[in-house]
Amino acid sequence: MTVSAGREGGCQCTAIRYRLLRAPLALYACHCLACQKQSASAFGMSMWMECDGIAFEGDPPREYHTRGDSGRAKICAFCGRCGTRLYHESTGSGILSVKAGSLDDTSDLVPTAHIWTTRAQPWTRALIDSGLCFRTEPEDEGVLPELWRRATSAERAR
Ligand SMILES: [Zn+2]
Ligand SMILES: [Zn+2]
Repeated sequence: MTVSAGREGGCQCTAIRYRLLRAPLALYACHCLACQKQSASAFGMSMWMECDGIAFEGDPPREYHTRGDSGRAKICAFCGRCGTRLYHESTGSGILSVKAGSLDDTSDLVPTAHIWTTRAQPWTRALIDSGLCFRTEPEDEGVLPELWRRATSAERAR
């Protein structure tokens, strides 16, 4: 489940491509209603990257501006040609929440937490129960990178 620097991804039509320059800080699934809308699916997968830990090339992403539950302004970046959502950025956070399904190779992705499980679609129950769950958001957001760090360092030690 470790995601290393050098991994690549991009939008569906390939007009936007990216490469990870560093390892991600966190990987989790979010079942909130906003993530169900933006993914047009059951949940969103968030992979936290430091802003300077990822390099984009190709078309500049288009932006949809909204606000998170915290009230903080949020930029949602997507490909203007094919509409693939690529990342969200809470302004001032220095972190991009990259949509992990946009990686070219998703075969080894395992989120270390599920958040907003109170909003989860019923069929995902078994999936959610297999991981660490938060009914809404964790009180301390720092727990998400901590869980990922623990899971990936345990794997490296093996
Ligand atoms: Zn595209
Ligand atoms: Zn969400």
